[in-house]
Amino acid sequence: MSTTRVKVKIRCRRCGEKFVLKGKKEKGKIETGFRQCICSNEHDFDMETDD
Ligand SMILES: [Zn+2]
Repeated sequence: MSTTRVKVKIRCRRCGEKFVLKGKKEKGKIETGFRQCICSNEHDFDMETDD
């Protein structure tokens, strides 16, 4: 079992707010626990990881 810790940068496509979070990468899927932006956007994000 390999779980990689990654830094995840999220940018909201609605308001442009940026977030940097620590996430876990498992089997190509990234889990950050991030739920929604301050503008209530829950789905429309650009996501990029440093790993
Ligand atoms: Zn937003």
